[in-house]
Amino acid sequence: MTKHLKGIAASDGIAVAKAYRLIEPDLSFETKKVTDIDAEVARLQAALEKSQSEIEAIRDVALENLGPKEAQVFEAHLMVLGDPELVGQVKATIESNASNAESALKEVTDMFIGLFESMTDNPYMQERAADIRDVTKRVLANLLGVQIPSPATIREEVIVVAKDLTPSDTAQLNRQYVKGFITDIGGRTSHSAIMARSLEIPAIVGTGTVTADVQQGDLLIIDGLDGNVFVNPDEETVAEFETKAKNFADQKAEWEKLKNEKTITKDGKHFELAANIGTPKDLKGVHANGAEAVGLYRTEFLYMDSAEFPTEDEQFDAYKAVLEGMDGRPVVVRTMDIGGDKELPYLELPKEMNPFLGYRAIRISLDREDMFKTQLRALLRASVYGTLRIMFPMIATLQEFRAAKAVLENVKSELLSEGVAVADNIEVGIMIEIPAAAVLAHQFAKEVDFFSIGTNDLIQYTMAADRMNEQVSYLYQPYNPSILTLIKHVIDSAHANGKWAGMCGEMGGDQMAVPLLVGLGLDEFSMSASSILKTRSLMKKLDTADMKVLADKAVNECTTVDEVIALVEEAVSQL
Ligand code: PEP
Ligand code: MG
Repeated sequence: MTKHLKGIAASDGIAVAKAYRLIEPDLSFETKKVTDIDAEVARLQAALEKSQSEIEAIRDVALENLGPKEAQVFEAHLMVLGDPELVGQVKATIESNASNAESALKEVTDMFIGLFESMTDNPYMQERAADIRDVTKRVLANLLGVQIPSPATIREEVIVVAKDLTPSDTAQLNRQYVKGFITDIGGRTSHSAIMARSLEIPAIVGTGTVTADVQQGDLLIIDGLDGNVFVNPDEETVAEFETKAKNFADQKAEWEKLKNEKTITKDGKHFELAANIGTPKDLKGVHANGAEAVGLYRTEFLYMDSAEFPTEDEQFDAYKAVLEGMDGRPVVVRTMDIGGDKELPYLELPKEMNPFLGYRAIRISLDREDMFKTQLRALLRASVYGTLRIMFPMIATLQEFRAAKAVLENVKSELLSEGVAVADNIEVGIMIEIPAAAVLAHQFAKEVDFFSIGTNDLIQYTMAADRMNEQVSYLYQPYNPSILTLIKHVIDSAHANGKWAGMCGEMGGDQMAVPLLVGLGLDEFSMSASSILKTRSLMKKLDTADMKVLADKAVNECTTVDEVIALVEEAVSQL
């Protein structure tokens, strides 16, 4: 019988494919005595060999998709597997204790891990401990006959089912085979959802139970337009969704026609429609969807996709590639926003009770000036290859902005004195994503060149509702009059000081919010590339004077989210 699940629609599109469970297997085992020692050693040997060929396959895929640096970690894993000392000790333990291979493996590797981890001032040994832990898991899985899923090696069309996806899981998904994903937890602005939109595959998050309700190989329909999942659907349901998928494809083809047009409203006003990107590779989607600029380059992925801090030259190459790729059109590069749900293993951040309220983004950059300076040097060196705008994330106070700007000025003088060319028209702005900055926007506007409103965080901090937590998603609403009031104050403050205001949070591409934002006078809209063409199509139908009346009404008269939605729906239905 068809089972139906509902979640949060996080990325458009419809797909039908088999389920691939990306879930850590149960690796528990019993410690047992064995009588046939030779057979046990042979069992270990077979598991080692199988692990070796699996790791080699993953390394090859990583090499091809991600590059030599990212593949290095798997080379390290192969070294562990081939280490005669370690493997010899596991075999010796089987022989001396007559114990099963699982327990001998665990006993020996635990000893090595403990030893290396105790060398706390030696990062190299700490990394070896992590390698041994990973390899042990794989060998154990092979001894137990269970599979460790590895998304990089998927070679058939699937829909990935997981509790949650880390940014590095998502980075490994190959669009050719992965037709969508569904998770237990998360919200529309969790990073897995944002990545799904840049991969342009359907995604549904926050179902609560998909990992419990779906088995490996079940046939799934994922409807990313409405947040519906069907498990083992009957033929009738499959046919219904094939039609829906076709209609969506036709709709997309209509939007495609707007690819090379500017974004002009019915009354002839131009708005800049920009794209959010995470890596230079995303430029393909930016061009395919006709974006006029890059409104947010999230540079933290450069740090997260790497096993160690990216060097100044590596960063320079990435920034230059994006600036050149945009051919003179503006590129807003945000300095590193690590922390929150974006971890960086080699930075060894302490575990925090509330990572979203903790040590992150500009707070780290101002504390770790060495890292910050490296990034700014790379950015300024790249500035001559296009139109660079620099943006600082998570600014709460003017002191922070002034301190960050001072480091930037400092780095600029250093480069100039070294004879390095730096563009002299670089705008420097901030994300408005902390309510404190939104409230004081009229003061910030005197000192910054631009604002970009980060609603993903601004909403969670204003409503005190975690953006990842589906249980409080009823509070996490962009159309709340409190949010609209803050946004209005930010835009008005920018304009009163001759500055521009953009938005790079997901609200900027939200079709219900766009009429309101046009009415509030937002200058630039930056969104997942996949939302650009439908937003352009919508904006062509809007009249700015009418939208101003609509937005004023929403801000001044509406008291609830429902009232705002009703107001916008009524206005949109008359377009
Ligand atoms: C935001 O907070 O709106 C934003 C764009 O930043 P991120 O989603 O990377 O936190
Ligand atoms: Mg943010």
